[in-house]
Amino acid sequence: MEKNNTTERVQVLIIGSGPAGYTAAIYASRANLKPVLYQGIQPGGQLTITTEVENYPGYPEGIQGPEMMIDFEKQAVRMGADIRYGTATAADLSKRPFRITIDEDHEIEADALIISTGASAKWLNLESEQRLNGYGVSACAVCDGFFFKSQEVAIVGAGDTACEEALYLSKICSTVHMLVRREEMRASKIMQQRVEKTSNIIIYWNTEAIEVMGAEKVTGVRIENRLTHETSEIPVGAFFVAIGHSPNSGIFAGQLDMDEQGYLQTIPGTSRTNIEGVFAAGDVQDKIYRQAVTAAGSGCMAALDAERYLSAQEHQE
Ligand code: NDP
Repeated sequence: MEKNNTTERVQVLIIGSGPAGYTAAIYASRANLKPVLYQGIQPGGQLTITTEVENYPGYPEGIQGPEMMIDFEKQAVRMGADIRYGTATAADLSKRPFRITIDEDHEIEADALIISTGASAKWLNLESEQRLNGYGVSACAVCDGFFFKSQEVAIVGAGDTACEEALYLSKICSTVHMLVRREEMRASKIMQQRVEKTSNIIIYWNTEAIEVMGAEKVTGVRIENRLTHETSEIPVGAFFVAIGHSPNSGIFAGQLDMDEQGYLQTIPGTSRTNIEGVFAAGDVQDKIYRQAVTAAGSGCMAALDAERYLSAQEHQE
C-alpha cells in the first residue's frame, strides 16, 4: 500500500491514463519493467467525455469512449501494470533517478519516465455549452461529426483546427455555419482558401456564440455580431468548439523542450525528449493528429524506447 510522505523507487513511471499511457503500460508490463501508472485528474482521459468511438480499429460495431478506456485499463492491469489514482503535481528532472511528486505529498523516484498527460480542449465556458456537452456539443468533429450526417451544424474557431474540422464536417453535414470572432482568421492561408471555396460552409465574421439552444439536445445557436450587437439564431443539430487545445505540460516548464504552446518536443521518429530517460507520448506532444489510435501508437513507442534506454543503462553499470 502506498503511504503519504514516503519515497518509492520504480523502474518506469507513466503519468496519464489516455490511450498513450495505458498502451505504454501494457508494453512496459510485458517487458517486465513493472510500470506504475498514475491516472491524473481525468482517469481515462479525453475519451471519457466522448460518446461513441467508431474509428478505433478492432471494434467493428463501435464502442463508447468510457467503455473503451475501461478495456484499456483492464488490459494494462492484466499484464501486471500498477494503476493508481493520483496526479503528478511537481517534477525534478535535473538528475537521475527523476523525482516526481504525486498529489503534493508522495515522492516517486523513477529510472525512466513516460509522460502521457494529454491535452485538454478549450471551451467557451457558456453554461449551455457545458450542459449540452455530449448531447450535440463536441470538441471533436472527427469523433462526432458522423452522428450529424446531412444535418446543419455550427463550429466556432478560426485556426487550422477549426478550418480542418469545418472541411471535414462539410463532407458529412448539409451546411456548416462557421463562427469567427474577428474579421480575419488565424488559420494558414491555404486552409482559409479551402474553407472559403467550399459552398456549404457559411462564414460569419465578427460573430460570437452567446448561447447553445436546446433542452436535452442541441437545437440551435444564438449568435451576436460584435460590431452591430445584433443577435440571431441559427437552427443546428450540433455545436462544435474548435478554439484550440492546451497540452498538460505545465509541471515540466523550464525542464523539457516545448513549443510556444507548451507541446512537448520529441526527437522526430521517437518518443525521446531532450532529457535522456524521459519520453513523451500522446496528445501532450502531438498537436496535429490527436487521435486515440495515434496516441496508442506513440505510447507503444515510448515503452519500447524506455525499455531500450534502461537496458543500455544496465549494460553501462
Ligand atoms: P489556434 O490557437 O491556432 O486557433 C484558435 C482559434 O480559436 C483562433 O482563431 C482563435 O481566435 C479562436 N478562439 C480562441 N478562443 C476563442 C473564443 N473564446 N471564442 C471564439 N474563438 C476563439 O488553435 P488550433 O487548434 O487551430 O491550432 C493549434 C496549432 O496546431 C496551430 O499552430 C496550428 O497551425 C496547428 N495545426 C496544424 C494543422 C495542420 O497543419 N494540418 C491542423 C491543426 C492544427 P483569434 O484568432 O481571434 O484568437
